[in-house]
Amino acid sequence: MIRKIYTLNDFLKEKFNEKIYKVSLDGGFTCPNRDGKFSKGGCIFCSENGSGDFTSGKLKSIHQQIDEQVELVSKKYKGDKYIAYFQNFTNTYADINYLRKIYEEALSHKNIVGLAIATRPDCLEDDILKLLDELNKKTFLWIELGLQTINDKVAKYFNRAYETKIYEEASQKLNKLNIKFVTHIIIGLPKEKKDDYLKTAIFSQNCGTWGLKLHLMYVVKNTPLEKLYQSGNLKVHTKEEYIEKIVNILENISPEIVIHRMTGDGNRETLVAPLWSIKKIDVLNSIHKELKKQNTYQGRLYIK
Ligand code: SF4
Repeated sequence: MIRKIYTLNDFLKEKFNEKIYKVSLDGGFTCPNRDGKFSKGGCIFCSENGSGDFTSGKLKSIHQQIDEQVELVSKKYKGDKYIAYFQNFTNTYADINYLRKIYEEALSHKNIVGLAIATRPDCLEDDILKLLDELNKKTFLWIELGLQTINDKVAKYFNRAYETKIYEEASQKLNKLNIKFVTHIIIGLPKEKKDDYLKTAIFSQNCGTWGLKLHLMYVVKNTPLEKLYQSGNLKVHTKEEYIEKIVNILENISPEIVIHRMTGDGNRETLVAPLWSIKKIDVLNSIHKELKKQNTYQGRLYIK
């Protein structure tokens, strides 16, 4: 039977022979796109929490954060293996000794079998790559890069504060070290052109991405994007538009690309629009229904 979507769950089950959960950790990081190193405003859609709304809070030790989340997840999950996921802000943006300390602290926890680190492609200096190379040789590791789009005009507008060629260079360095990376793409960015989302997915595939995280453009409270939306100058996607684009991406990429996400975890308290996205299960079911209806699947139109 043809697999409709190659999900992260599928991959992890194949690798570890059981279901694996992630625990989202807060390493107390900031972002160079917020603290003034590259820019002060941050990306216009970024929430106050650095796009990581489900981490369990600063000031707690890494082991304490892991223990708390393991306890929560263990109510529905009977396994004992987890991936430590450093999620919010830029998780390689700190002194190398600090980075080593917190990554190793996570890996020393008895339940942790791997590490996922979200960052910007312009925060992978040589000493950091050397540390990641070392970690990659002793554990299961992936890096997440927030590309969002390859349209540099759109990126400039939302204040990504780096050019697409920086992502390309980072991907080459990670490929050389055999370090897996996942690329974040946002669908529905202001000023994006019709096919930008698809071109971005294909480009990241050509750069060697191991996985994709596909996000809908959310409008979150207290962001510059909210002001744009409230002024009537931003149109958000309908569910149908979004699903059509997700299906297009899936059909055109390799069946080997691991799909980490097809919609986000919108936070009820802070989400302004589009409100249909709050029903995550409904969105995922609708994607599956559409694939079935069109009798299509990931990789159907993929050309090597
Ligand atoms: S790079 Fe990430 S953390 Fe920094 S402002 Fe943009 S979305 Fe937020």
